[in-house]
Amino acid sequence: MKQTKMQTTLVSAGRKQRYTQGSVNPVIQKASSLIFDSVAAKKQAAKERNHGALYYGRRGTLTHFALQDAMTEIEGGAGCYLYSCGAAAIANAILAFVSAGDHVLVTETAYEPTQDFCHGVLRRLNIQTDYIPAQVGAEITDYIKPNTKVLFLESPGSITMEVQDIPAIIQAAHAANPDLIIIVDNTWAAGVLFKPLAHGADISIQAATKYIIGHSDAMLGTAVANSRCFDRLREQSYLMGQTCDADTAYLGSRGLRTLAARLKIHQENSLKIAHWLAAHPQVATVNHPALPSCAGHQYFSRDFSGCSGLFSFVLKQKLTDKQLADFLDHFSHFAMAYSWGGFESLILANQPEEIAQIRPLSGVNFSGTLFRVHIGLEDYDDLIADLQAAFARIA
Ligand SMILES: *Cc1c(COP(=O)(O)O)cnc(C)c1O
Repeated sequence: MKQTKMQTTLVSAGRKQRYTQGSVNPVIQKASSLIFDSVAAKKQAAKERNHGALYYGRRGTLTHFALQDAMTEIEGGAGCYLYSCGAAAIANAILAFVSAGDHVLVTETAYEPTQDFCHGVLRRLNIQTDYIPAQVGAEITDYIKPNTKVLFLESPGSITMEVQDIPAIIQAAHAANPDLIIIVDNTWAAGVLFKPLAHGADISIQAATKYIIGHSDAMLGTAVANSRCFDRLREQSYLMGQTCDADTAYLGSRGLRTLAARLKIHQENSLKIAHWLAAHPQVATVNHPALPSCAGHQYFSRDFSGCSGLFSFVLKQKLTDKQLADFLDHFSHFAMAYSWGGFESLILANQPEEIAQIRPLSGVNFSGTLFRVHIGLEDYDDLIADLQAAFARIA
């Protein structure tokens, strides 16, 4: 295949004439029923329903195909399945490859609802989950059991941002058991700054809700799989009734067109603010993958082509409830909200004991209040002034 620079791929991917019908963007084809012109056409569509033929709404329309083609090209897989949100992509990707009695390994810094799914749903199906430290390398083999079927990685980790040595983990895991299915939650990298499938992962998950949608106004999940996993992922997800609506698939494709431009600003702003925070007397540490103070920074430098806008920092002190409210309640630009990846800056706080609860193996090694920030597309001087005023309120 022709090598195209990522920025260009993001603009052009999925824009086939069949999907765009002469316009720039794909058509929004809203359909449950897709009409067959003849008995022969129905027969033909049944045969080609997994290869671009219109068949039934739940199998997708031209709008879905456009985004699936684009994501498959961007993440370098054999196919892409679309879900109503990132959590659905995670749950269905794991479920497609496990049965009762199996064992699953999950990075201990994975997104909290991923962990909740493992002990809330998988456990009930008699599927056991164990956690692995974020900084495990080739010693991953110590955790693999004869019945381990899925290894689920997330890098950087949620909230504390540890970058994993994914190439070393995958190499050792596959050497120990070539049949192990390796899934990576690649949301922080927006599907473009890191390439799990190129490192031997089987499935790359995006909470496309974040950077691909990019405007905090829709929810969408994608899973791009390699050839050994895609057919099974697609059929199992289809049987679980997974799909997304055409309007949201359209927004996903539209988001891709500006993703590279947005990421450049997220990167520039987040780096400037991370460096400013690192020099602040009240800050103990900054967990930004591009800074040496972040666990696994060396893997970030080796494996990622850039950074996005999400990171965290830890204060030297643990704030009281009153200080926390003083810090958080009066921002001009930062808003307090879950999710991230939109054009706007966000901030959330976690006390160390709250983080320790979702770190099943190692707890935490800090005692101050942690703030997770998503740095948006505002002018960074305004964001720094906003943070400076917050620090002054707790001085
Ligand atoms: C937000 C998020 C998800 C879940 O995505 P939703 O679209 O909210 O379901 C999964 N993984 C990570 C890393 C996330 O940040």
